[in-house]
Amino acid sequence: MSDHDNKKENGATDTAGKRPAARGGRGRYPHRRVTPKATESALEAAMPKLPEQAKPELVEAILNTTKNSRKQTAKPKQENTEPKQDHTPAAQAQNNGQTAKKNPQQQRRRGATAAAKPAEPVFVENKAVTPENPQKPKAQKGRVKNSGTPGRKKKELLRIIPLGGLGEVGKNITVYECGNDAFLVDCGLTFPDESMPGVDLVIPDFTYVTQIKDRLRGIVITHGHEDHIGGLAYLFKNGVNVPVYATRLTIGLIEGKFKEHGLLDKARLNVISPGESVALGCMSVEFINVNHSIPDSCGFAITTPVGVIVQTGDFKIDFTPIKGDIIDLARFGELGGKGVLALLSDSTNAERPGSTPSERTVGESFDKLFQSHEKKRIIVASFASNVHRIQQIMDAAVKYKRKVAVSGRSMENVVSKALEIGYLDIPSGVLVDIDSVGKYPADKMVIVTTGSQGEPMSALTRMAMGDHRKVTVTPNDCIIISASPIPGNEKLVTRVINELLKLGADVVYEKMYDIHVSGHACQDELKMMMAMTKPKFFLPMHGEYKHLKKHAELARSMGIASQNIFIGDIGKIVETDGKTMRFGGSVPAGKTLVDGLGVGDVGSIVLRDRKHLAQDGLIIVVAAIDTASGQLLAGPDIVSRGFVYVRESEDMIGAAKKIARDCIQKCIDNNTREWGVIKQRVKDDVGDYLWQVTKRNPMILPVVQEI
Ligand SMILES: [Zn+2]
Ligand SMILES: [Zn+2]
Repeated sequence: MSDHDNKKENGATDTAGKRPAARGGRGRYPHRRVTPKATESALEAAMPKLPEQAKPELVEAILNTTKNSRKQTAKPKQENTEPKQDHTPAAQAQNNGQTAKKNPQQQRRRGATAAAKPAEPVFVENKAVTPENPQKPKAQKGRVKNSGTPGRKKKELLRIIPLGGLGEVGKNITVYECGNDAFLVDCGLTFPDESMPGVDLVIPDFTYVTQIKDRLRGIVITHGHEDHIGGLAYLFKNGVNVPVYATRLTIGLIEGKFKEHGLLDKARLNVISPGESVALGCMSVEFINVNHSIPDSCGFAITTPVGVIVQTGDFKIDFTPIKGDIIDLARFGELGGKGVLALLSDSTNAERPGSTPSERTVGESFDKLFQSHEKKRIIVASFASNVHRIQQIMDAAVKYKRKVAVSGRSMENVVSKALEIGYLDIPSGVLVDIDSVGKYPADKMVIVTTGSQGEPMSALTRMAMGDHRKVTVTPNDCIIISASPIPGNEKLVTRVINELLKLGADVVYEKMYDIHVSGHACQDELKMMMAMTKPKFFLPMHGEYKHLKKHAELARSMGIASQNIFIGDIGKIVETDGKTMRFGGSVPAGKTLVDGLGVGDVGSIVLRDRKHLAQDGLIIVVAAIDTASGQLLAGPDIVSRGFVYVRESEDMIGAAKKIARDCIQKCIDNNTREWGVIKQRVKDDVGDYLWQVTKRNPMILPVVQEI
């Protein structure tokens, strides 16, 4: 991870807690003091807002165009909320036209899925009959219903259990359970804060998922950000292996992760297109296109025996997206018309009024900046996963006849993946190798780089510190930081900007131009989602408590009754029978810390020690005692790490040694031979003395050797 893109959302390719080789020579955690966070969540403020009154007409227009385009594509559309296209194995087997397009590997995986679940589930007395759950013969004679059909004799119960992403930003994961079937929506990670020194990643507590793994029919993923896919590999390492369903780019990014973890061979990864559905036992999930800061993002319409649930995932409404379709508002509206039981919606920007501007506004700013800096070399830092942003940089470069070089590992990864699957359009000859940057005149060159969060190991930071092997920043550079600093990263970003300015470069950042927009919906868009889906129950998702609370208030202002709004928490079960909803107990949930190869072995005691060591340092007191005579043979000696520099504090260390010696001698004289007691006394006496003379409280580690 030479580019330490420590991002909750956007470091789409750098994860896996890999110990970066670059750290070796500089001590173990040269850059850990302030962990860059990049949730993209709360900042990005003060963006120009779409004129409020423009919205209704626009929506009208969208609804019409999407409806029309739907007709043109002539996808047979059923009249109910049943899946538009079936991914049950039976359907897949028939659907050759679709599978024919997949590569052989994909086909093999689909085949594997089909083999594992050959039969369409049928309903008998609240139980789905699947090969994993063979029922008695009476199953065939009983009340048999097709999946997803509501209305049955016995009361069916749907349980929705968020295991992450509520009361926090990151590690999104939600369990849906009904009868004998369960599935997960997303499986993300988050990055550690200052209270977790040395920790690489934080993943959800998988206790409950492993408990229900026999009932788990699959995992559906909304989009490819770290906080939605980053935990998957760890879940699979926990012995859970079920089919994963996601859109193309998302699957591509998951493949990259599974490869790193050596899991790719066993994994069953399935590419789903927006508009298609996946059957998961008695439930089915329809993928609906939404706009967000990474292509191929989807929301879900989840058809269950008790009703339809809409879970938006991360979304915004972009009427002029760079590539791909406008969010499928028509489909959300259609679902609302037929009755949505509950809406689970993205709360990230619930505090911000108005609407998030279109990604396209950023392109207009790039155009202006490229024009006004025509004599200079241009360097743009952005989130690697924001493929549309990268596309706009490429477009500006092509327009102004410049070559583009890509810098930073995650940026290189995403660009090559996006090119491979056709998500980036770059005319041939535009991309050049970063090694050949020097060959082109400054005014013919653009460099796209990682490091928009000031991450200490990132390419941009290295450029700023004069530490980049291939790029030297001069007054002839214009540097555009096309991202907002995530809360917690402001100082890092400021430091990079200061250094770049000292080198004489022009630096364009934050509010100077519209060079960044958020990927999340603001209040007007959130309200529109509620207006479209008209849910009976509302559950704010994705956000800290204040975001959830604000989102709940919005729902209330839209006429959803207070008793129908549920602000949940991780591990808290939400139950519904289709008529009522309530909290129903809880399951284990929390965080699991990943440090290097260790998953979950860093607990609260280890963290407490790490904090103690980091704050006050360490004193080791070493002595040797003769076992037979009980006499002090050598020492005590004192070693200090991170407390004081021994050579500059010889008097104090000498005094501490004497105190330790007296203490041990006293124990020997009193015939105290339990090492535990001796060690504790040394700790107390030396600790008291050091506190007296320094008012510091180092960790004291007595080592008494018996010889
Ligand atoms: Zn996201
Ligand atoms: Zn997210």
